[in-house]
Amino acid sequence: MSGYSKARDQRVADEHIGNVMACRTCRTMTDHETLQNLGGMCHPCFQHYCNPEPLTGPPMTADEKREILARVRSLIVPGALADKMRAK
Ligand SMILES: [Zn+2]
Repeated sequence: MSGYSKARDQRVADEHIGNVMACRTCRTMTDHETLQNLGGMCHPCFQHYCNPEPLTGPPMTADEKREILARVRSLIVPGALADKMRAK
C-alpha cells in the first residue's frame, strides 16, 4: 500500500521537477519551454533584461535645449552676486 503511494509520489515529483528548472537570474522554478524561449530566464527577468531602465520619454529637441540654455544664461547676470554681497 504505502509502497505504491511512495512510488506514485516519486513519479509525480520526477515529472514535476523534470518540467521545471531554476531561472538563471532569480532562481525561480520555471518550466522548460519558457526557459528555452527566453534564454534561460523567467518572464519577469526577461522583461527586465529587455527593458532595464524605465522610459523617460523622447529626447529633447534642439529648440528645447536652446530654450533651457537661454533660461540658464538669463539667470547668470555678471556682477549680480557681487551686488548681492555688497547689499548686505
Ligand atoms: Zn527569473
